[in-house]
Amino acid sequence: MTEILALPAFDDNYIWLLRANGLVAVVDPGDAAPVLKHLAHSGDRLCAILVTHHHGDHVGGIAELLAVDAVPVFGPATENIAGVTRALVGGEHIEVPGIGVDFEVLAVPGHTRGHLAYYGPSLANTGALFCGDTLFGAGCGRLFDGTPAQMQASLAKLAVLPAPTLVYCAHEYTQSNLRFAAVVEPGSIAVQKRAEEVAAARAARRPTVPTRIGIELETNPFLRWSAPAVRAAAASRLGHAPADDVETFTAIREWKNRF
Ligand code: ZN
Ligand code: FE
Repeated sequence: MTEILALPAFDDNYIWLLRANGLVAVVDPGDAAPVLKHLAHSGDRLCAILVTHHHGDHVGGIAELLAVDAVPVFGPATENIAGVTRALVGGEHIEVPGIGVDFEVLAVPGHTRGHLAYYGPSLANTGALFCGDTLFGAGCGRLFDGTPAQMQASLAKLAVLPAPTLVYCAHEYTQSNLRFAAVVEPGSIAVQKRAEEVAAARAARRPTVPTRIGIELETNPFLRWSAPAVRAAAASRLGHAPADDVETFTAIREWKNRF
């Protein structure tokens, strides 16, 4: 049985650990220090590093971890990341050595051009998704080097995963994202209810992630381009009815950028 643990890093990042048999694989180690601290306290050994994209808060700890143990590093082939030994483009099936976890690698461009997500259907009974800065609790990543059409297609790919799939986002952004979601869909009971649950979790300093695909489908405006209320909100921003899902998504994303 593989355990999944959160290591908080910086202000609002999570580094995710997959732990089995005294070994850990680490996802998006932006900082080596919390990982090294975990290894020292637990006696676990590092067996692999997985990275989703090239931003410093996701890759900054790789070199320091490799100096301790030269483990395989899985990451996007099309982004310039020092230390990657298993370059991936999406579509691959990988097995993380040591812990025996299988992932389907998904190409999810948008936040960055080569962004990857790792979907482990056998993890945590329900399946688990490590999606970096693509999908957040009630939100999605900003568009740095990808296009809105790419991001919408990437999110559509994640939206069709089984509803109970646990979503391990790389940032604790859910509470502020829900403030925006409540403005996009002021009539949504699901958004209001989630905002209350998330406020209680944050007041108790508990993480709001992992979330689940099903929860996101109900409350995340960046997956709800088909919902009449979201289309109407996009129309009022655009001054005309959105022509398609990409235009709806783009209008909501641009609105959030200024929110
Ligand atoms: Zn990022
Ligand atoms: Fe990030």
